[in-house]
Amino acid sequence: MCLVICFLGNGCTQSKKLESLKQQKKILSHTLDSLSHLLVKTEEELKNTPVVSKATVEAGDGLFQVLVRMGIPELERRQVVLALQDSVEFSGMRVGQEFYVAQNPSAPTGKQVKAFRYASNPATIHLLFRDDQTGVFSYKLVNKPLTRRHSVFHGNLEAGSSLNKMLFQVGIPGRMVGVVSGVLQCKVAFRQAQPGDRFRILLEETFYQDSIWISGKVLYAEFEGRTLGHHEAFRYDDGDPKSSYNAHYTENGEALIFDGLRYPLDRLHITSTFGNRIHPVTGQRRAHQGVDYGSPRGTPVYAVADGVVVTSGYDQYSGNKIAIRHRDNSTSWYLHLDSRGVSNGTRVSARQMIGKVGNTGRSTGPHLHFGFTNAQGKWINPLSKTMIATPKLQGERLTKLQKQVQEIRSHLQLAEAEAPQLANDSMEVKVKMRYIAP
Ligand SMILES: [Zn+2]
Repeated sequence: MCLVICFLGNGCTQSKKLESLKQQKKILSHTLDSLSHLLVKTEEELKNTPVVSKATVEAGDGLFQVLVRMGIPELERRQVVLALQDSVEFSGMRVGQEFYVAQNPSAPTGKQVKAFRYASNPATIHLLFRDDQTGVFSYKLVNKPLTRRHSVFHGNLEAGSSLNKMLFQVGIPGRMVGVVSGVLQCKVAFRQAQPGDRFRILLEETFYQDSIWISGKVLYAEFEGRTLGHHEAFRYDDGDPKSSYNAHYTENGEALIFDGLRYPLDRLHITSTFGNRIHPVTGQRRAHQGVDYGSPRGTPVYAVADGVVVTSGYDQYSGNKIAIRHRDNSTSWYLHLDSRGVSNGTRVSARQMIGKVGNTGRSTGPHLHFGFTNAQGKWINPLSKTMIATPKLQGERLTKLQKQVQEIRSHLQLAEAEAPQLANDSMEVKVKMRYIAP
């Protein structure tokens, strides 16, 4: 009996213990379940957390090398380049510039670019964001506020001194000397200049955070020569920074350059320059015998000079193409056209519309491939030729220029009224400068 009771009693305790253990196990396993569920979820989230990486442009880098270093696969390289190429000119890429990419490491393709960032200068940021639903990139441009500075420089030519040396001496910043001398030499034959001839320059420069130089242009250049006479040049702004009409003109709208080629397009957005290049997407190396201008399909294409059409045809690589031979036996080439407006043997004049921008032949998007061969048939860099939009501004553009001439004259007057101050750290030159709030 006792045994039984004992047994029962013992058994009762044992079974109760077992029951409670079972219960505990159940709770534990539930907890474990929910914990591991949590764990899985966190891992999942972890997998979806974009990883940000950075690449800095090194000497000899093209866009391809940078994108590869960031671990962006080919398909995505194509998407990134396509999404940016209408807004960014990668030919202006410089050593030290930084690229950032945010990638989703668990995407089916291995990696997926969620966001992309490129600063073409410290104040101009290009951003791409991928829409999670559509997978399409949207582009955003961030322009940080800039300060503008107008500076006026006076100089007199001295015997035995070069123009560039003179420009340095009067305090023109080194980064602008080439531009200033280019503008002056368009108008003045300096071989005939004489000691005592004077010049005056008004520069407009923009800065980020007051000290980081972003851009500069010559708003005004004046030359007064004993035998060369009085000349003035004004910088015309057509309203679009890529307009081929942005250039220097006299007050009457005459271009400073008379014998240049005419631009083949009204708007110049270079997507690829002349020479050896590595394709940004495929990485293939090839010689590029011309310059590519990105442009919407249907945009008018103009003859760059008078001449005779020597090719008007189609092939699978060039698509619709036109070639024009000019007086000096050089030839200009226009490829991938949507349509051709002139046939073989036609005589064309400079700036005559000859066709429209297209995407025919081996081409990844609408653009004009513009090539140039010299009289010996050798490909040369078209950008080494002097090109202008027009020898004389007319109509609305002339009216706009004349309004800008008045503005420039008043900027000049206001800058002249400033007290001279030290122009830079290294030289004891005082310059009249005027800061303009953003
Ligand atoms: Zn091309």
